[in-house]
Amino acid sequence: MTICAACHRPLKKPAVKHGHAAYGPVCAAKWGLMPGAKQAAPARDDKTADLFDATKNETCLREQTGL
Ligand SMILES: [Zn+2]
Repeated sequence: MTICAACHRPLKKPAVKHGHAAYGPVCAAKWGLMPGAKQAAPARDDKTADLFDATKNETCLREQTGL
């Protein structure tokens, strides 16, 4: 019986083996270890101004231009 290296649950069949460590399908997906499976890109919030991008940040632009 193999044990998941992340959650220590017993595995009937490990989804991913990473060296000596075996991972179940849930933990492998969680840690991005599933071969071929791509993690979804983080959703971009376009309503909130980017803190470090002055061109998109209206408040910061106002401070820079003095308007
Ligand atoms: Zn696990």
